[in-house]
Amino acid sequence: MIQFHPSPLEKKTYQNKTIYVKRDDLLDADFSGNKARKFHYFLNQDLSQLKRIISSGSNQSNAMYSLSVLAKMKGLEFIYFCDHIPEFLKTNSTGNYKYSLQNGMKIYESPNREVDASMQKDEVSILIEEGGRQRESEFGIKILADELIHDIHINHIKNPYIFLPSGTGTTALYLQKNLPIRVYTCSTVGDDEYLREQWRMVENDETIFPRILTSQKKYHYGKLELDLYTLWRDLKENMGVTFDLMYDPAGWMKFLLHVREIEGTPLYIHQGGLIGNESMLARYQRKYSITT
Ligand SMILES: *Cc1c(COP(=O)(O)O)cnc(C)c1O
Repeated sequence: MIQFHPSPLEKKTYQNKTIYVKRDDLLDADFSGNKARKFHYFLNQDLSQLKRIISSGSNQSNAMYSLSVLAKMKGLEFIYFCDHIPEFLKTNSTGNYKYSLQNGMKIYESPNREVDASMQKDEVSILIEEGGRQRESEFGIKILADELIHDIHINHIKNPYIFLPSGTGTTALYLQKNLPIRVYTCSTVGDDEYLREQWRMVENDETIFPRILTSQKKYHYGKLELDLYTLWRDLKENMGVTFDLMYDPAGWMKFLLHVREIEGTPLYIHQGGLIGNESMLARYQRKYSITT
């Protein structure tokens, strides 16, 4: 049974507001953040009868990297389908893409990545849904929920609530399912209705859906925006925490819009993803000539 050491909870201040940050980015060197929580179940399974892990998603996905580590540890092949790999990335590999290849990932380009991945599934392989949107993810996310209950108790945090940005929303959903306190989230991939649809795919009981914080301004997944970068940098300078550049800036943007109207003490979940910053920072540098 593999167990992670509980990740630290740190007390921070930002814009004169006390905010606790759950440092799941510090969980483990190879398995960081919510992908470690989501794949914890498979880490503990005996996969020795299998030959490979199959999945699909974007060419810089954090899930892809974590699965490449899992496959390597378990002595399995890792087959991954993505839409398209730009020539620039092929010749200048960085970030999750680079390190997943180093772990032995076999990557294929396909316009129907999800279908192609599912067609490879046979009795000696496991298929992992994009981003880990599946019921097995609850196992590790429940462990995170239990850690949070313990953190809240020993730090005597009054009227706590949780905030975390969502992709598939799996982490937010299973946290709310396993916590007696409010969980707030926001969409960063698609709109708010897309997020609810993701939840309906794994959960029938809508009463346990997390609360969604909205914003007038739309942020498009993976799109570079100077205001997002500026906020990311400000958080880093003022809190001393490096957040991820895919989900966290849009998450903080929406969270800060609402934080003054939500009663209680916020706990922000840092969900890792820092290896992905390597490629995001390179893109920001090319687009805006910023210095880091
Ligand atoms: C995958 C990921 C998310 C989104 O998690 P979901 O469970 O799909 O909502 C958020 N932040 C980081 C850093 C991630 O790697």
